[in-house]
Amino acid sequence: MNGIIPIVQIDTDITSALSTNDLEKIATQDYRQMSAYLIGKIPAQALLSTEELHIFHTEQQQAVTAQPVAAKKLVVVLKATRLCNLRCTYCHSWAEGPNQTKPNQTMRFDILARTIRKILAIPNIKHFEFVWHGGEVTLLNPLFFQKLLWLQQQFKQPEQHITNSMQSNAVNISDEWLAFIKGIGMHVGISLDGIPAVHDSRRVDYRGRGTAQRVAEGLKKLKQHSIPYGALIVVDRHVYQTDLREMFDYFGKIGLNDIEFLNIVPDNRIPAGGKIDENYITYA
Ligand code: SF4
Repeated sequence: MNGIIPIVQIDTDITSALSTNDLEKIATQDYRQMSAYLIGKIPAQALLSTEELHIFHTEQQQAVTAQPVAAKKLVVVLKATRLCNLRCTYCHSWAEGPNQTKPNQTMRFDILARTIRKILAIPNIKHFEFVWHGGEVTLLNPLFFQKLLWLQQQFKQPEQHITNSMQSNAVNISDEWLAFIKGIGMHVGISLDGIPAVHDSRRVDYRGRGTAQRVAEGLKKLKQHSIPYGALIVVDRHVYQTDLREMFDYFGKIGLNDIEFLNIVPDNRIPAGGKIDENYITYA
C-alpha cells in the first residue's frame, strides 16, 4: 500500500470498528474498492436524513427481481443531474429548460436507491461500471456521491465488483470536489471539443463565453491532485476538419493523453419537408 492517497471525508472511527477479517479484506483490495468499502461501513443514521433512512428501510423490504443479461460486465451510464453551469450549443439538457428553480432536475434519493438496487440485482453480472453524467455532476454536493457509494455497498453481492467514474466539463471544479474525487480514487472523464477555436465556439458558459482556458486550468488541478482523467470529444464537422497535428499539439500542451471520440448525434427534430443537410455527419 505504498504511496496510498490519504482518504478524506471518511470517518476514521469506522476503521477501529472493523474486524481483523475486514481489515485483511481491505488489504487485498485496490484503493477504490477500499474507499467504497469504508464508506459502506458508515452507519446509516450518520449519513442519511430521517426521510432517506425511511426510504432506505422501505427499499430493503421490497422484493426485487432482475433478468440475467448476456454479458460479463455491465457499464451503466446514469444522469445524476440536468443542472449545468454551461450552455453548449448542441446540448439538449439545458435547451429543454432545466434551471435551479425547476423541480426534479437531480436524481432523487428514492430513485437513486431503487435504481442501484435493481441494477445490482442482475444475477449473472460480476462487474459493474457506473458512469455518472450530468448536466454537471460537480454542481451537486459530494455528499450525493457518498450516499450513492454507500447504497452500492449495501445492495451489492459479495462477489460483485463495482467501479464508478464521472463525466465533467472541468469548469470550476471546487476544492471540496477535488478532495472528494481524490479520496475515493475516481476516474474523471472531461468533455472537450478539440482546439480552443472550435471548443469556444460551442462549449460556452451561460454568458456565452468560451471555456477552453478554464478547462485547461481544470485539467491542471486534476493533475496536481493526481486524479486520473481522460477526455471525451464530440466530433462534428468542425472537429474533424481541424488539422490533426494542431489538435494533438494542443492536447499535449494541456496535459491530455487519454482521449475518446464520440460522434455528434444529429438533431432528429427536422421540420416537415426538411432535409438532412451539410450540418449533419452521417456514418456513410
Ligand atoms: S457541459 Fe454537458 S450538460 Fe452542460 S451544457 Fe455542455 S453538453 Fe450540456
